[in-house]
Amino acid sequence: MARLFDSVRYLKGVGEARAKTFASLGISTLYDLISYFPRAYEDRSRIVPIAELQTDEPACFRAFVTSSPRTHHIRKGLDLTKLTVADETARLNLTFFNQSYVADNLEYSREYYFYGTLTGDYLGYAMNNPVFEPVEKPGVLTRRIMPIYPLTAGLHNNLISRTVQQALDACLGELPELLPAALRAQYGLCDAATAYREIHAPSSFEALETARHRLIFEEFFIFSVGLSLLRSGRDEKTRPGFTVPALSEFEAALPFALTGAQKRVIGEIAADLESGRVMNRLVQGDVGSGKTAVAAAAAWITARNGQQAALMAPTEILAEQHAKGLEPLLAPLGVRVALLTGSMTPAQKKNARAAIAAHEADLIVGTHALISEATSFSDLGLVVADEQHRFGVAQRAALAEKGRDPHLLVMSATPIPRTLALILYGDLDLSVIDELPPGRQTIDTFLVGEDKRARINAFIRKQAAEGHQVYIVCPAIEEGEDESLRSAESWAETLQQAVFPDLRVALLHGKMKSAQKEEIMGAFARGEYDILVATTVVEVGVDVPNATLMVVENADRFGLSQLHQLRGRVGRGEAKSYCILFTANRNPETIKRLKALCKTNDGFEISREDLALRGPGDFFGTRQHGLPAFKVGSLELDMQTLQDAQTAAADFVSSEELPKRPEYQPLLERIKALFASTD
Ligand code: ADP
Ligand code: MG
Repeated sequence: MARLFDSVRYLKGVGEARAKTFASLGISTLYDLISYFPRAYEDRSRIVPIAELQTDEPACFRAFVTSSPRTHHIRKGLDLTKLTVADETARLNLTFFNQSYVADNLEYSREYYFYGTLTGDYLGYAMNNPVFEPVEKPGVLTRRIMPIYPLTAGLHNNLISRTVQQALDACLGELPELLPAALRAQYGLCDAATAYREIHAPSSFEALETARHRLIFEEFFIFSVGLSLLRSGRDEKTRPGFTVPALSEFEAALPFALTGAQKRVIGEIAADLESGRVMNRLVQGDVGSGKTAVAAAAAWITARNGQQAALMAPTEILAEQHAKGLEPLLAPLGVRVALLTGSMTPAQKKNARAAIAAHEADLIVGTHALISEATSFSDLGLVVADEQHRFGVAQRAALAEKGRDPHLLVMSATPIPRTLALILYGDLDLSVIDELPPGRQTIDTFLVGEDKRARINAFIRKQAAEGHQVYIVCPAIEEGEDESLRSAESWAETLQQAVFPDLRVALLHGKMKSAQKEEIMGAFARGEYDILVATTVVEVGVDVPNATLMVVENADRFGLSQLHQLRGRVGRGEAKSYCILFTANRNPETIKRLKALCKTNDGFEISREDLALRGPGDFFGTRQHGLPAFKVGSLELDMQTLQDAQTAAADFVSSEELPKRPEYQPLLERIKALFASTD
């Protein structure tokens, strides 16, 4: 193994300075270097006759030098070296800019391979700065599929490629095989040495694909096995088990009967809390599936065991709403609910914190910042994070440090397929509320263009006349550069002044002070406004049962899951509810995407559709932090390989015997090294 972990410094052509530049790319050993994969490839393998070269399409050709190169000094800093070459089909003028040394390397009447891009117009064709090699020499820059590496200042592509080849020659024999032969046979994967060779110097595009497939599988497999091991290691974190009272007592206090799915998920949570191990559980449930009641049950069990629970909401509006909703529910059960938000006065905050520290509150509801910052709990046994997709992995970890390893319950309203959930929340166990409370209506959804504006305005008026309320969501707050984007501020004004002067129009957006937001949201909830023009601040969790119409402007600017969330703001009461999606976008893909929303109200189906159409990168947008970065694999393009790797990982981890086999030890060592830092 000696050479594999030797410094790149020992390679020919790598001095101290270059070693430093490599180090800036995270490359210090030969192993690092051969694991630095190309980002793209150029097809220089096909040899084209000169007459068939196409402008702006780089290509390789074979030709004789038909005139001795001549260098012309044009002006200071500009030398042009010119010559002509020819094959049996045509002749071509070549020009090199400031590369007068080529004159010494291109000999009259000798034959070379060239690679370059034809330029030209009616005056004639030419080529600037092609690379070339004598036909007698083996192809390095021509006649092959050329790897293109991610570059950095001071390292050009050929140098990296050459250095990688040197490293491969030196250490490939020592490369550990992380995927044993039986596993490779099962999933049709090539061996490690072949994969490394071919990814850097593909002998054909087919061989390259085989190499990539193997490396992607390896990457996903390592990741999946690593997460599983992390999960099982984490299980060892202990905490004296709770005593779980009969759920019927909790249910009796509710104004409704729990759904089967809610009961099942509460059961899974209760089992965790009883187990003597620390819970780390993600609850996925569609909008309106009743996640709050599930969280309340967990808080109730915790309080019954003499410990405190914290419920973190992503916004103050939601925190207030949760506190208001949970207080009447839990008070009869003896659970004291306290609220802690940023808009409380310093004195109020101080009081709340004192009560929390003195264990005069059992369930503390607040925004995650407030709960995690200056608050000290008397005995924190459970942390619930609501609408998890707003929280990053790091915040989750920071929170767990409050209290002595409290149980963690994460609730997400963005349902995602299990394969992806395992990647994103691989360290969490998964529960799914896959059933809505009975009698939930479907929200009729329509995709419309500007031509329907008058009709929709009339419809808004009709809803208001019936005593119902309307949300209108805009993609922007203020007028901006993009004039096609409806802004909440000016649209609210237009509607109030010109369209609905007789109705009460309110404005809500993210730049407002939180006290102001509270006030407006509260007033809307009390029915003091007919229309709320807002940005996506109303997206998550807001509950106003009297609202029956959701209008989304520039709907194409939102993701499907986000639109589904927005739509979930209506249909919360008895009355029939509607969602109108405005778009001026004519792109067939966009229309198809938005139509998916009109077809179904099922969040899981919508997220599947969204993922299929856009891929996870877009799907999560910039919101989802903690998405792992893979070197070769892409969560978007390599879903099938991901699933195979996850299957293989599950087989491996659940096997008694496989992890003990010698051929799996290199893999386990690798995982240990990779995951050591995330422990
Ligand atoms: P979400 O999963 O989106 O957070 P909530 O917990 O806010 O959903 O619940 C949505 C609405 O459904 C609330 O008004 C809640 O009181 C109600 N609800 C929850 N569970 C049930 C149930 N089993 N039967 C009837 N209504 C329920
Ligand atoms: Mg909720």
